[in-house]
Parts: sequence; structure tokens; C-alpha cells
Amino acid sequence: MAQITLALTKGRILKETLPLLELAGIVPAEDIFSSRKLVFSTNEKNVRLLLLRGSDVPTYVQYGAADIGVTGKDLLLEHQGGGYYEPLDLGIARCRLMTAVPVGLSSSQGRLRVATKYVNIARQFYAQKGTQADLIKLYGAMELAPILDLADEIVDIVDTGNTLKANGLQSRHKIADISARLIVNKATMKTKYSDVQAIVDSLSQVVSV
Ligand code: AMP
Repeated sequence: MAQITLALTKGRILKETLPLLELAGIVPAEDIFSSRKLVFSTNEKNVRLLLLRGSDVPTYVQYGAADIGVTGKDLLLEHQGGGYYEPLDLGIARCRLMTAVPVGLSSSQGRLRVATKYVNIARQFYAQKGTQADLIKLYGAMELAPILDLADEIVDIVDTGNTLKANGLQSRHKIADISARLIVNKATMKTKYSDVQAIVDSLSQVVSV
């Protein structure tokens, strides 16, 4: 059996990924949440888990440092690198990628200032709309940017909309529906086909998309 390294995204997605993995027959050898380790063996001798930041998962899988990865579609769209297939929508961590503006704001004059951590996605979105936009890269708390007049609008992921509302913002345009996806390194798909396909198959039987 080939060794399979499965890269998982820490945080909110992980809490929804582990039950799916368990249903698919993969269980970490120890409690992930009470450990500071980043690599975990599992009940399957040939499968190990890596815990990464979501934005690093596509990079690990692209270069084959991990064979399989689980991360949000938002981060895959933003990553823009190739080198992997996306065989399965896991149907978890669902949300939407939206533009959002201050409540009651009439359209702004001149070039639009957009704060986001998704600069590649935003650049493409505004270009397609034919809107001239200056993108301002932030790493967190996008909602603050319009309040402090750093930007006219933001591009961010929205679930309930409570965070926007609490900061005087409302969503405007939907850019994409987001959920967590399974990705597989392209070379791995050939060299470790049967082991990878077994994992993809068992996961696809337990997801309810
Ligand atoms: P909400 O107030 O429910 O709209 O959630 C908004 C915030 O929660 C966003 O700014 C994100 O930081 C985070 N969030 C929402 N959905 C997800 C998700 N599926 N994965 C990761 N973070 C999320």
C-alpha cells in the first residue's frame, strides 16, 4: 500500500472534516484538538494527516508534499496554481463569497477602493464587471475597512451575515458559493491511484451535497 499524506485545514473546517473522515474509516491515532502536533498517524497504517492553514493546503498538494487536501473553495479560487484535481465537493463549511458595502451607502465616486484578502478573485470579478477597482490587501477584519474609510467595499466570505450586520455592512453581489473541497495532486492520482481512489470513493459515499 502506498503512503498517503492528507492535508487538512485547521479551524472551523476541521471540526466538520473529522466526522466525515471517521465515517470514511479514517480516524486520527490521538485527539487532534488537545495536541499541538501538526502531523498525526491514523488507524490506517498508510495514511497520515497534516494540519495546515487553509491557504497553504493547495500549495502542499500542488507540489506533492501532500497527496490529498481538504480546504475551502475560496482559497482554491484565490490560489490560482494548478497541479491538482478537485474530485469532490465535501458539502461542509458552506458559505458565500460576497461583496459588501456600508448600509445605505449610495454608489461611490471615481475608482472603487476594495479591501480583501482575496485579491486575485476580486481583481477578476471587478474586471469582468468592467469596474475600475483599487485592491487593498488585508489579512483579517475586512469589515473594519469601510468603517475607517480605508475602502468603499469589501470582498469576504459570509455565512449568516451577522458579522457584516454588526459592522454596519450589507452584502451586495455574490461572487461564488463556497464549500470545502477535496483536492488530489495530479501525479499522485496516477502513481497512487488505487489508494487515492479508495479514499475519494469512501468520502463520496458519506458526503451529502
Ligand atoms: P457570519 O457572521 O456568519 O456571516 O460569518 C462571517 C465570518 O465567519 C467571515 O468573515 C469568516 O471569517 C467566517 N466564516 C464564515 N463562514 C466560514 C467558512 N465556511 N469557513 C471559514 N470561515 C468562515
